[in-house]
Amino acid sequence: MTGTDAQTVPGTIRERYELVRARAAEAAARSGRTPDQVLLVVVSKTASLEQIHELIQLGCRDFGENRVQQLVQRAAQVGEHLTRRHEISGGAVPDIRWHMVGSLQRNKVRKAIEACRLIHSVDNLRLAEEIHAQGVRRERPTDILVEVNVSGEASKHGIAPPALRHFVDQLDTMMNVRARGMMCMGPLGAGPDEVRSVFARAKEIFDDVRQSGAGGPHFDLLSMGMSGDYEIAIECGANVVRVGGAVVGPPQVEDAEDG
Ligand SMILES: *Cc1c(COP(=O)(O)O)cnc(C)c1O
Repeated sequence: MTGTDAQTVPGTIRERYELVRARAAEAAARSGRTPDQVLLVVVSKTASLEQIHELIQLGCRDFGENRVQQLVQRAAQVGEHLTRRHEISGGAVPDIRWHMVGSLQRNKVRKAIEACRLIHSVDNLRLAEEIHAQGVRRERPTDILVEVNVSGEASKHGIAPPALRHFVDQLDTMMNVRARGMMCMGPLGAGPDEVRSVFARAKEIFDDVRQSGAGGPHFDLLSMGMSGDYEIAIECGANVVRVGGAVVGPPQVEDAEDG
């Protein structure tokens, strides 16, 4: 979403968050599901810390970042803030789930898996092997999504759809990695019809893997849809959407990918 688009959405972060939630719920209903069957991950890469705190107060528990450094830093800051508030007011400390949505470099895996609940962007075997190796000391396997390049655009990350099944089979041999599903991006600069056809194709690819039994019963998440196309994605069967600008509004901090 461009800055101009973000500025056309309503005034406060509360209004924007509630509007996105309402629209996501309507799209879920149109696809025969209840609102709680679709997880809204707010991508906070351009949000201020104050905005994140406000969203937590409004009930948001899932946040996405595309840089490991910022994710780790924010997870710590938000955790401290919540613990302090808990000490003053009592009440349960909310469990915040951090999602790594951007591309992940192998040298940042160790930090990433300590701080985040789900990595949305695993698109090569060496990365998966590193997550497996770094996960040895963990009690639970690291949950990941396989990023698939459904639209086939050269500029996009993600493995090719025909390679997905074999890739998931390979992940299955890694005890410290658990494939929870797939992630994809809508086509860049496309109209709604083209977006819909890419997301419908993504759902078919996802269902094929599930029906094959590859990945097992835990392979159940389909992460697709951002500010400009989350409603279409939900209508096509997404059960995780990653929405940034439509909630955050005009960027409060710069979005810089890891160098
Ligand atoms: C930034 C980002 C989003 C959110 O994009 P918006 O258009 O701001 O909603 C979703 N997914 C990924 C991978 C991103 O990097």
